[in-house]
Amino acid sequence: MTEATRASGANTRGRIDPDRDWAQAVAFDRAHLWHPYAAADGSAPVWPVASADGVRITLADGRRLIDGMSSWWAAIHGYNHPVLNRAARGQLGRMAHVMFGGLTHGPAVDLGRRLVELTPAPLEKVFFCDSGSVAVEVAIKMAIQYWQARGQPAKHRLLALRGGYHGDTLAAMSVCDPVTGMHRLFAGLVPQQIFAPQPACRFKDPWDPSAIDEFARLIAAHKDELAAVILEPIVQGAGGMWFYHPEYLRAVRALCDAHGVLLIADEIATGFGRTGRLLACDHAAVAPDILCLGKALTGGYMTLAATLTTAEIAGTIGRGDAGCLMHGPTFMANPLACAVAVASIDLLMAGDWQALVRGIEGQMVRELEACSGLAAVRDVRVLGAIGVVETHVPLDLHALTTRFVEAGVWLRPFGRLVYLMPPYVIKPRDLSALTRAIARVLSEA
Ligand SMILES: *Cc1c(COP(=O)(O)O)cnc(C)c1O
Repeated sequence: MTEATRASGANTRGRIDPDRDWAQAVAFDRAHLWHPYAAADGSAPVWPVASADGVRITLADGRRLIDGMSSWWAAIHGYNHPVLNRAARGQLGRMAHVMFGGLTHGPAVDLGRRLVELTPAPLEKVFFCDSGSVAVEVAIKMAIQYWQARGQPAKHRLLALRGGYHGDTLAAMSVCDPVTGMHRLFAGLVPQQIFAPQPACRFKDPWDPSAIDEFARLIAAHKDELAAVILEPIVQGAGGMWFYHPEYLRAVRALCDAHGVLLIADEIATGFGRTGRLLACDHAAVAPDILCLGKALTGGYMTLAATLTTAEIAGTIGRGDAGCLMHGPTFMANPLACAVAVASIDLLMAGDWQALVRGIEGQMVRELEACSGLAAVRDVRVLGAIGVVETHVPLDLHALTTRFVEAGVWLRPFGRLVYLMPPYVIKPRDLSALTRAIARVLSEA
């Protein structure tokens, strides 16, 4: 390495030397890289990360932050986990990838078997895809191709819930909340779907049967054009962090059956124990016709998702015009990602995740109570390993995130929501540091 390349912070292959010149790296990022939902003008702060281990994210300047986000629901076992590392290395020695068209491999079969086992009985056909949004696209295509194959092509629309979030590709966007999803930006391109109100009855309140009335009216009125209902069971995530009553989900299942409409459960955020049950559908003992999984599927290591459906739906699609499901990603069933997913699921099932999630839930209920009395706070709610503090007015995302980093924690609020979904392995002391930081920062807000 020459002195010049050293001075620029890059080695001879143009890579960042992590011990040198992070300022240059950040400057390049600010000038050239997009971040999620951010202007590419360098105005939003970014913190360079050197490494992550357990529930700690180590910044380039050596500061260590306690992670309260699990990198968006995904890193349920924490970072740099020896078991997941071993699975990735072991698979890397055999093959990182091979196409899935006409070929198969052990990691895909092992993972498929586990997904069929841990999901409700009628779900037995597994489609692997690259990301949650694609899993939703695939689910929608399954529903539409199913009705086409049954000679009912008019059944091609979706009924979704306000306050929902299902991803960022075009069909997935079409079923996100039309206001926060900014449908007007893409008018004409994003198909127009039908929206029921956000479920009004909270998870922990007594069931109010009138909460399903408007949904019941809409599904009856539109049944001839509806392919499927799509919803996030029990917990609406990025669309508002809202927890609703299991009876609502049970009523939706019954109405779908009564009106001949499929039910798609998007468990991309809720799957793998986050809500206190392995799947959020388990709170209501409901089996969907199509199920989407993602996020925590690989324990946060790699991008992978899956869409599951029944033998009846898969068989019907196969007898349709196309003779197959019209989808096939290049990196379908990537062996590295599948191998890590298998290790992550086995790790979850071998441990007492229910006790971990219950412990986190109880502690968040006790400790976030401190926020209820704050002037800025409108509502505090906890379910499983998800804690939410909702404020009266929208928060200054950048100012707040900066305050949290200064307090030694990684939390990323949005809108009127500060939320907490730590890795399941978090210790009570670290969780307390997170809840205290939220109370302190919001008391100043
Ligand atoms: C994150 C999320 C998606 C989209 O997943 P990506 O991997 O970001 O494409 C879809 N549905 C739900 C419920 C999600 O939380």
